[in-house]
Formats: sequence, structure tokens, C-alpha cells
Amino acid sequence: MKSTKPKILIVDDETANLKILREILRDDADIQAAKSGEQALAIASKQQLTLILLDVVMPEMDGFEVIKQLKSDERTRAIPVIFITGLRDVDNEEKGFALGACDYIQKPFHAAIVSARVKLHLELIHQRQLLTELAHIDPLTSLGNRRKFDYVLELEWSIAKREHTSLAILMIDIDFFKNFNDNYGHSAGDEVIQTVGMALKNQFSRPRDFVGRYGGEEFVVVLPNTCGELLQDKIQKCCDAIANLNIEHERSDVCNVVTVSIGGALCEPVVSGYAEQVVKAADTQLYHAKKGGRNQVRWQEFKTNCIKV
Ligand code: GH3
Ligand code: MG
Ligand code: MG
Repeated sequence: MKSTKPKILIVDDETANLKILREILRDDADIQAAKSGEQALAIASKQQLTLILLDVVMPEMDGFEVIKQLKSDERTRAIPVIFITGLRDVDNEEKGFALGACDYIQKPFHAAIVSARVKLHLELIHQRQLLTELAHIDPLTSLGNRRKFDYVLELEWSIAKREHTSLAILMIDIDFFKNFNDNYGHSAGDEVIQTVGMALKNQFSRPRDFVGRYGGEEFVVVLPNTCGELLQDKIQKCCDAIANLNIEHERSDVCNVVTVSIGGALCEPVVSGYAEQVVKAADTQLYHAKKGGRNQVRWQEFKTNCIKV
């Protein structure tokens, strides 16, 4: 079974320190150890760490350089860092905080104090995670909301840019939904939004695919690392899956069941700061799908970048 314990990485070039800290913290967390800055960065970029305890004075890369690199990588930026160091002067302590550490513990340390401070930080991290999760969930569908979408889009954009992979956005809108509400009532409309949201979610199974509620009767999908053919296939399947739910809609001009129109945009991000242009492009394609008669898909591909949207 997967452990639900927090994961702490301890970074120290002294094996004795690693051993003692592991002993102190083993009941509260799963402990990983790194003996150098390079090793720490490699572990941090691959694993979902809760917290890092970081020594400052180490051969080759010191702790200040490690935290700089952690903060400059979107995959590791948010991991809280506590310095645990023999540097006891105020200037270095101030520097540690200025570089983004959440605490600074001096060596020689006292086991009870390290344990108490780490526990306190783990509790704060846990509460912050709960708040962030709540703020990112749409209460009607339990999907990610607009705020979560903004976060996912920025994150995936920077990953795609760094790894030279593609990114696709889908905008999905229920057809003639105002008529549906007018005909069947608002709470029946709410149920449709929930059912459509769930059906869309079921269409995307890769761990990094994101399906969210953009607002009202509109949904948004973020698909990292996909190709044109796969996207076309996916979009059409999505559109068909909603019609196949067979939800009666006698006041739709296009069909006698609930349908959606979908606009998609696929690009290879090569510059920063253009993520919202892909959203605009997908929205334009959605507009064309609506104009074209609804219950259909339109998408656009940008071969190299999306400045020209
Ligand atoms: P189109 O095919 O062009 O998309 O037409 P439409 O009627 O779906 O679009 P329009 O933007 O005119 O109307 C959207 C409707 O969606 C109006 C609004 O009452 C309804 N709506 C938005 N949010 C909710 C919600 O949370 N629950 C319910 N029941 N209805 C909602
Ligand atoms: Mg709409
Ligand atoms: Mg609509």
C-alpha cells in the first residue's frame, strides 16, 4: 500500500548527521537521504517531497546554491526547505530566509527541538495543502476549477517548453443549455453539468491530463505531450461520449439529446508567457464549432510556437 506519511529529504555530507536526523524524524515521516547538493536536486525533481532539511556547508554545491536551484525549477519551487547548519551568524541566517527557507536550525542541534520544529512545519504544510485543495475544487462537479486550471496551465506550459513537448487545450461547451434550464429547471441543469463533467473526466486517463470546469456550462481540458492524430481522436470521442449519455433535450436545435461543442488548440511552447494565447485559440475554435452547427469539434495546430495566434 502507498504510504500517506509525509516525505522528508535530509541533505548532509556527514553520514553521522544523516543517521541522527533519520532517527529523530523516522516516526513522523518517510525519510530519504542525500549526501550532496547534486543528489538532493535529482531526488527532489523526481519525488513528491513534503519537506527538505538542508545542510549549508557541503563540498562542491553548498546549501544556498541548492535552494536557489530548487526555487528556479517549477517542479521543486514549492517544496519547503529548512536549513540545518553549523553557520551560526546572523548574516547567514538572514541569507537563508532571503533565499526562501521556512526555518533555520543551528548545529549542534537538540533532538527535541528539531523534532518539535519539523512537526510544526509538517502541520502547517498539511493545513496549507488542505486549503489549496479546497480553493481549487468546483463544488458542483468536484472537478478542478478555473483557479486550478490557471495553475495547471502555467505549470504544464513551462514543462512543455523545457522538455520540447506539446501542449493541447480543449474548451468544451454544452449546446443550447439556456434552453435546457428553461425547459427542465435549474436543478436538472445542475445534474447535467455534473454528469457531463464526470463523463469528460472518464475520457482522459493519463495521470497529467487535467479536466476542469472553466465556468458555467463550460469545461476545459489540458493535455500535455500529445500529438495531432491522438488529439483529433480524443476530441471526437469526447463529443460522441456526451451525445451517447442520451440525456433528453427537447429544446436543442441540433439534436434531441444533450450535446457539446469542442474547440481545441495544440502547440509546442517555445516562449514564456503565451499560455493564454492557446486558450484563446481553443476558444476561437469553439466559436467556429458553434457557428458550424454545434455538436461538433474544431481544432487548430501550431507547428512551432503560438505567437501568431
Ligand atoms: P450555446 O449552444 O451557444 O452554448 O447556447 P447556451 O444556451 O448553452 O449558451 P448561453 O451562454 O446563452 O447560456 C448558458 C446557460 O448556462 C445560461 C446559464 O443559466 C446556464 N448555466 C451556467 N452555469 C450554470 C449552473 O451552474 N447551473 C445551471 N443549471 N445552469 C448554468
Ligand atoms: Mg457558454
Ligand atoms: Mg452553451
